[in-house]
Amino acid sequence: MFRANLFTQRFSIHKRAARRKVALRGPPMDIQTMSPELITGFQVATLTLTLTFLLELSCSIPEVFQLRSNPKGKRLYRACITANLVNNLLIGPPTYALATNFFVSHREYSAARSIASALGLIVTHALGYHYAHRQMHEPSMYWAHKFHHAFAKHVTPSSANAVSVVEYVYAYMLPFVAGCAVCAPDERALLAAVAVVSVNNLLIHTPRLEVTTNRFNPSAILIVLNRTYNVNQSIAQEISKMLPWWAVSTADHMMHHRVQASYRTLV
Ligand SMILES: [Zn+2]
Ligand SMILES: [Zn+2]
Repeated sequence: MFRANLFTQRFSIHKRAARRKVALRGPPMDIQTMSPELITGFQVATLTLTLTFLLELSCSIPEVFQLRSNPKGKRLYRACITANLVNNLLIGPPTYALATNFFVSHREYSAARSIASALGLIVTHALGYHYAHRQMHEPSMYWAHKFHHAFAKHVTPSSANAVSVVEYVYAYMLPFVAGCAVCAPDERALLAAVAVVSVNNLLIHTPRLEVTTNRFNPSAILIVLNRTYNVNQSIAQEISKMLPWWAVSTADHMMHHRVQASYRTLV
């Protein structure tokens, strides 16, 4: 009897403690209470992270090892992984849900209109990113872009989304929201545009895809300039900044990272 009382007493203490824990944590998160747009946003984020991981694993293991060969590089790589998780999982999905709720058409367009709005969105995003990127190279805003250019000698696919929160919101997300407001795409057009922009962003940060053999490629000229004298490095940087958005290949973007590196002592 005494034992039974002790047991019920202990059991009720455990139950009270469990209730207190739940009250402190709040109600458990239920995936069914999340909006479908937010769920799609998380799916896009998961796909982006998976593709980043696969590209890193299949194309960039040597670069990862070189980057992590000293304590500063190890810290930078840790910051890179954190930025990928924060940007993709915390900022991307709510932005996707916001753009979809406010600006995306809820009825499905004809194939032609869908393709046209996806192309419009890609062009608007490219223009927005180009403008924001140029602005972030101004001394007054370089602080927001500095982290991305810490990847100078060793660029990896994961560095594509290793940007400060300000850069991610301003240069990556805002052009999408503005593009949705301008082009009013349907959801499949938005998803297609997001896929094109995200995959392209990862590919221009994958050094194995760099092609510098074409003598007419402007980036080949930049490499030659960069390897000569300091005065030419500044010319190379100027040319690199003037390249239009549509001319940016992996080689162009790698050059952009390297030219920046020649100005700063980085990892
Ligand atoms: Zn830059
Ligand atoms: Zn970059």
